Amino acid sequence: MMTPDIKTNAYTDARQHSHPAVALTGELVSRDSVTPEDKGCQEVLRTQLEALSFRCETLIFDDVTNLWARKGSQAPLFIFAGHTDVVPAGNKDKWTFDPFLPAIVDGQLYGRGSADMKGGVAAFMAALTEFLAQHPDHDGSIGVLITSDEEGAAINGTVKVIETLMARGEQIDYCVLGEPTAEQQLGDMIKIGRRGSLSGRLVIQGKQGHIAYPHLADNPIHKAMPVLAELMQIEWDKGNDAFPATSFQISNIRSGLGVSNVIPPDITIDFNFRFSTEQTADTIKKRVHALLDSKSLSYDLNWNLSGTPWLTKQSALVAAADQAILAVTGLTPVHSTGGGISDGRFIAPSGAEVIELGPLNESIHKIDEHVGVNDLIQLTEIYRQIMISLLTQSK
Ligand SMILES: [Zn+2]
Repeated sequence: MMTPDIKTNAYTDARQHSHPAVALTGELVSRDSVTPEDKGCQEVLRTQLEALSFRCETLIFDDVTNLWARKGSQAPLFIFAGHTDVVPAGNKDKWTFDPFLPAIVDGQLYGRGSADMKGGVAAFMAALTEFLAQHPDHDGSIGVLITSDEEGAAINGTVKVIETLMARGEQIDYCVLGEPTAEQQLGDMIKIGRRGSLSGRLVIQGKQGHIAYPHLADNPIHKAMPVLAELMQIEWDKGNDAFPATSFQISNIRSGLGVSNVIPPDITIDFNFRFSTEQTADTIKKRVHALLDSKSLSYDLNWNLSGTPWLTKQSALVAAADQAILAVTGLTPVHSTGGGISDGRFIAPSGAEVIELGPLNESIHKIDEHVGVNDLIQLTEIYRQIMISLLTQSK
């Protein structure tokens, strides 16, 4: 890709583009919806969905705005899901253009959130608009679930909307999350699951004292080292067909008073497990506690489970996505469960088939984040063909 010419700053404003997915990406990028702010993004979507006769509800939980829109009441319920919030731009001076100016140069649309994931949201909005115009008597129902806290704490977003829907008995059958999933080329990868994520903060207590009189103290760093070494040696599992092996990683260790003559009173170790479906949070916790208890340590351990693993096995949705991607791009996508957690962890437990399929993820969260204009157009077509596969079978 060519670097934009900074001197001339020659660009086209994406909002002026003739393709609705590109123009809408531009419209959304121009709103600086840094998490959990929405800055009117959902209002733009709501207006478009209401014009298509969706029943729209704005669900506000604490400081987070969510949008749930549904058209039809029959099963199957097919939904697109996504988020309108973005991560901060970082140092604006390092950007070629203002991060909230949707500038197109050499076929790339620049701006914070263009790839993660306003582009995906705009592409599915364009796809469903086109689909409804062509197939007004389609099967089932169509839904759109948008949150504005995916990049933040993620406690008042998708998880709460799903709880609300479940309580009402609204069962989602198929969900396409428009998160950026492609690595080199649009369509080369979809996510059919994600690993679980379990974090722990371990505090091991010792006894503070003068470093020259170790027999009068009890060094917590020395107590921690062999335990950590053992934890690092454990093979938790070998993974399986869909998941890599469970991994244990230490992220932070803090101890010491910053001086060279004091044995510190305690040590704090932060760690994280990314785990496969071969484990549950409980099997991991039990094993860690068994090891710690076997060393007769004095410790505190606080756990935080941010997501259980989920997997959509070969299904109608995965097959429809494979077929649409092949037809539009000529590629057969890799079915991956790699990468970090996503809002799929909240939707899959409802019993829905969930996949993630969106544009390239190479520039997300970076300076000069961008998305290919052509990719947005092709992604719209992929989404539209998936809807045709799943929602016009009886026609
Ligand atoms: Zn995202």
